[in-house]
Amino acid sequence: MGATVIDGKALAAATKAEAAEKVRELKSRGINPCLAVILVGENPASQVYVRGKINDCAQCGIESRSINLPADTTQDALLAEVKKLADDSAVHGILVQLPLPPRSTRRLSSTHPAREGRGRLLARQRGPYADRRVVLPALHSGGLHPHDRVHGHRHCGQERVVIGRSNIVGKPAALLLLAKNATVTICHSRTKNLKEVCAAADILVAAVGREGFVTGDMVKPGAVVIDVGINRGADGKLHGDVNFAEAAEKAAYITPVPGGVGPMTRAMLMLNTVEAAERQSR
Ligand code: NAP
Repeated sequence: MGATVIDGKALAAATKAEAAEKVRELKSRGINPCLAVILVGENPASQVYVRGKINDCAQCGIESRSINLPADTTQDALLAEVKKLADDSAVHGILVQLPLPPRSTRRLSSTHPAREGRGRLLARQRGPYADRRVVLPALHSGGLHPHDRVHGHRHCGQERVVIGRSNIVGKPAALLLLAKNATVTICHSRTKNLKEVCAAADILVAAVGREGFVTGDMVKPGAVVIDVGINRGADGKLHGDVNFAEAAEKAAYITPVPGGVGPMTRAMLMLNTVEAAERQSR
C-alpha cells in the first residue's frame, strides 16, 4: 500500500478539542452554544446516530436538546418544530436526523443561523470558504476537511471529480470544491467514460452508495481519494464506495471506511454549532 491513510478519528478528536476550546471561550463571555437534534420516528440506526451526536455535544461542552417526534409527524408539523427552534435565540444549531419517515418528507439538516448554508453555497461565485461567511453543512465540510487539514487549501485550479449527484452528498460536495476555485466534474449513472474521467482527478470524492465501486484503475497515481460511502457488506461490516486495497496502491492519500469521513462529519457538526453561536454573539 502506497497511500497515507487519513485518520478521520484522530482529526475528529483534534477538531472536537478545537470546538471545546471555543466553547470555553464563549462560555466565559456568557454564551452557551446549543444544538437541537430532531428525530422523527424510531429508526434504530437513527437513534444510535442521534445518541452519538448528543455524546459529542457533552464532550465539547455544547448544550444539546433532543426532540423526538412520532413517526406520523407531518411535514408541516416538522417545519413548525424547526421554526420554533430557529426562533429560539438560545439554540444555535438545528439538525434533523435523516432519513425521515414518508409523511415528514426529507428536509436537510443545517446549522442555525446559517440554515440556508447550502443556498448560500449555490449563490456563491468564487473565493475560499475560509472567510467563514457561510456555515457549511457538516457532512460536506466533514468530507473535505480531512484533506484540507492534511494539505491546506490547495484546490485552486485543480481537477476534482465527485461521483454522485444527490442533493445530500454529491452536489453540495461539488459546490464546496467549486467555491474553493477547483475545476469540478460531477459524475453520475449516465456518465460516459467514467473510469477515464475519474483517473484524471487530483481529488476523487466517491458518494455512490455501492461497495467497492471505485477500483484501482479509476485512481490517478498520487491522487487524494475521499470515500463518503457507507455500505453494509455481506459480511455485516461497513464498507466504503472505494476498493480500499486497490485505490491505496495508487493514491497518495486515502480516507478509510469506517474511520474516515464519518467521524469528521460529526466533529464538524460540533465546530459548525460553535461557529454559529460565535456569529450570533457578534
Ligand atoms: P444516492 O442518493 O443514492 O446517490 C447516489 C449517486 O451515485 C447518484 O447520483 C447516482 O447517479 C450515482 N451512481 C449510482 N450508480 C452509479 C454508477 N454506476 N455510476 C456512476 N454514478 C452512479 O446516495 P447518497 O445519499 O448521495 O449517498 C451516497 C453514499 O454516501 C452512500 O453510501 C451513503 O450511505 C453515504 N453517506 C455517507 C454519509 C457520511 O456521513 N459519511 C452521509 C450520508 C450518506 P444518478 O443520479 O444518475 O442516479
